[in-house]
Amino acid sequence: MTDRHDPTLIVGGGIAGLMCARALTHAGIPVQLYEREPDVGGRVRTTMRDGFRLDHGFQVLFSAYPTLAAALDLQALQLHEFRPAARIALAGSEPALIGDALADLSLLVPTLLAPQLTLLDKVRMLRLRYLATSLSFDDCFATRFDSITTKTFLQRRGFSARAIRNFFAPFYGGILLDRSLESSASILLYTFKMLAEGGTVVPAMGMGAIPAQLAASLPHDTVRTGQGVSRLLRDDTGVQGVVLDSGKTIATSRVVLACDPPTNASLAMSAKLRVEVPGASLGCTTVYLRSRTPLLDGTALWLNGSPTATVSHAITISNVAPSYAPSDESLTAATVLGASAVMDDTELLPRVRADLAAMGGNDACSNAELLATWRVPYAQFAQPPGSFGRRVTAETADRGVFVASEAWYTSSLEGAARGGIAAADAVIRSTIRT
Ligand SMILES: Cc1cc2nc3c(=O)[nH]c(=O)nc-3n(C[C@H](O)[C@H](O)[C@H](O)COP(=O)(O)OP(=O)(O)OC[C@H]3O[C@@H](n4cnc5c(N)ncnc54)[C@H](O)[C@@H]3O)c2cc1C
Repeated sequence: MTDRHDPTLIVGGGIAGLMCARALTHAGIPVQLYEREPDVGGRVRTTMRDGFRLDHGFQVLFSAYPTLAAALDLQALQLHEFRPAARIALAGSEPALIGDALADLSLLVPTLLAPQLTLLDKVRMLRLRYLATSLSFDDCFATRFDSITTKTFLQRRGFSARAIRNFFAPFYGGILLDRSLESSASILLYTFKMLAEGGTVVPAMGMGAIPAQLAASLPHDTVRTGQGVSRLLRDDTGVQGVVLDSGKTIATSRVVLACDPPTNASLAMSAKLRVEVPGASLGCTTVYLRSRTPLLDGTALWLNGSPTATVSHAITISNVAPSYAPSDESLTAATVLGASAVMDDTELLPRVRADLAAMGGNDACSNAELLATWRVPYAQFAQPPGSFGRRVTAETADRGVFVASEAWYTSSLEGAARGGIAAADAVIRSTIRT
């Protein structure tokens, strides 16, 4: 028999687990959250090193994310905004700035002049923006979009091969960590909508400030860090508790699994329950370089249009958020995808320096000092067509076990936030039933 006043035990303190804990707390349901690492955040953490703020892999927040932004005090995060544009570097031509002139009028002329897109592509881009902003968030995931790849969708809308190769592949490669454009067209529409309706931002204190703010809003003693859960305990009547890595048993009649999708599946399996794992994992590596002067200009993300790129996208992040570096230095984040992402530093570093120098034309790249290399084997998961037709509920087949996961939505901060809220709703419904 479950009781509304029994604590619900959440496993995992990333965005999904924290959002779930927050919603349950607001509903008056006591919560204990167990996180294996020494601090919360999961894939969203920031470490200080020599006065630099290093996010655990370059990532950004879209301020238009409806669920996550509504839960955050955005003002307190002191957000720094990227220019709503991308600078595309291609061998043999000047880097071109392509942006949203409706958000920043100064982008109109450079965008019109950019040779990477034909004039008709630029008109089609405006029409795509109109479509994305006229759809509701949920409409973006309708079958008519989710049933085709991004590449097919763009071809059907008449975009030239040049635009697809030189702009969309590196741009969506940067967002989805995969340049193939084989992901569901729903993701293209949803991200286009987020880009058009809000800013691309980072908090002054680093991306880790986002989970830190969510955790700080929870009652004292809700979050127990440094305590992993190794398995669930369950009998014929439902879940009975969990076993911590230390061997200690914690009794509970409600467990929310809020880890990355493969870990949720394996913890569920420890209680002989099946939880579906979404597509293949997509990893990436972020190389952080320090230098006296910025290696790349401006506050728009740089995209490497070269098909043989080692660096997929990069930015001198301290241009956007000066708090990411000491006042007399600069911090550049370069993201590497695919096979290059697993190279060791001795092989990777010269390639990264060479790509950055070719992109931004700055000789200082050749002696910029390596500060850190952040390798994340599971950053996001692949979201091919059909990913959103099979929305799974937050409840598993078993009474008392719930899943808070980006897996039900999109592999993103917003997807994790939505997954957390959906699991909290399912827990609340279960307490009303009992
Ligand atoms: C480099 C990189 C770039 C990204 N870029 C973006 C971006 O620009 N925009 C965007 O929206 N999204 C981006 N993402 C994706 C986004 O960060 C994730 O989708 C989101 O953070 C997932 O949150 P989560 O809570 O579902 O999972 P996680 O963040 O993985 O959290 C799971 C937590 O569970 C804990 N845990 C695991 N096992 C156990 C256990 N047995 N016991 C207790 N605790 C456990 C983990 O330590 C972790 O803290 C990026 C991700 C990475 C890594």
